[in-house]
Amino acid sequence: MINITNPFLPPIEDYKKYLNGIWQRNWLTNNGPLVNELELKLKEYLQVPHLLFLNNGTIALQIAIKALDLKGEIITTPFSYVATTSSIVWEGCQPVFVDIDKDSFNIDPAKIEAAITPKTSAILATHVFGNPCDIDAIDKIAKKHNLKVIYDAAHCFGTKYKGKSIFLYGDISTTSFHATKLFHTIEGGAVFCNSPEILKKMAYQRNFGHNGPEDFEGVGINGKNSEFHAAMGLTNFPHINAILESRKWQSLHYNDKLKGLNVQHIKINKDAEFNYSYYPIVFETEEKLLKTLEELNLNRVTPRRYFYPSLNSLRYLDKQDMPVSESVSKRVLCLPLYFNLTKEEIDYVCRIMLRVQNN
Ligand SMILES: *Cc1c(COP(=O)(O)O)cnc(C)c1O
Repeated sequence: MINITNPFLPPIEDYKKYLNGIWQRNWLTNNGPLVNELELKLKEYLQVPHLLFLNNGTIALQIAIKALDLKGEIITTPFSYVATTSSIVWEGCQPVFVDIDKDSFNIDPAKIEAAITPKTSAILATHVFGNPCDIDAIDKIAKKHNLKVIYDAAHCFGTKYKGKSIFLYGDISTTSFHATKLFHTIEGGAVFCNSPEILKKMAYQRNFGHNGPEDFEGVGINGKNSEFHAAMGLTNFPHINAILESRKWQSLHYNDKLKGLNVQHIKINKDAEFNYSYYPIVFETEEKLLKTLEELNLNRVTPRRYFYPSLNSLRYLDKQDMPVSESVSKRVLCLPLYFNLTKEEIDYVCRIMLRVQNN
């Protein structure tokens, strides 16, 4: 079975060392020493001044929306994981979609201004598949119209933009450390923010608003993560570079082997240092995608239609047409990509795909 992804698992002995410490201290959660250690290591590795480790990437988005006090309409992308949109709705705001660029699959800045109304409070954009948005253009529009910017950078561990961590851009950046992501803590996420005031607000929010045991700063939620999750992050930490390197050679090997395949590849932002977190390809038609997918599944290869359906078609939303996103969504397939994936397995996947095309 060659799956779309396999979570990375470090040597179990390394994880057990952290467990011994947890048992000795009898400190399981609530801002424990391993959470602090992981936050410090991540700050150093990513070269960011601050971050808050949270229990998942969806809470990260919701805390970001709350911390910026967003109301009314939030402009967002229809081509992302459902959490990007559902978080907006969950926080009582209205998602207003702006269609994507046909080459980068990110929100198209040229179409943002037409979607701005007096009710618009922010732009929430995803750097989809780890490919940075047109950050400069989005920033310019946001400044002109006095809008906040949140980036859902769930796919972006290791991505840099103009030489700096992608997590440094926007009023707040969020990420996910879910088991399927490039760097994971089983479940987990984080928020990044350059403003000390907003960061402080989010730190209260992640812990019920507690300011000491008997005082509350404001409304909070439980966004904390545990020592066990931090321990998994710390155990995975020494493997980050190897994981990034494997994703890169695997992607380049796919590029090489799929030269004869008639599909579109993602166009990476020219100012990016890309993390190769996903390997998306876009077929000419949905029919061709389905035919290829069927044959791959018959041969026990299970890629995924990331991201399908286009989020503007969610049943709980009013209809908004997004022709580019709908078209890409119907034709996009993410190929298997994970640490243990071998050259031979990639060759096998590619052979099947070429055979389907050439039959
Ligand atoms: C994974 C993901 C999320 C949600 O993260 P969780 O940690 O699973 O809650 C949000 N947005 C995008 C784009 C994602 O891929």
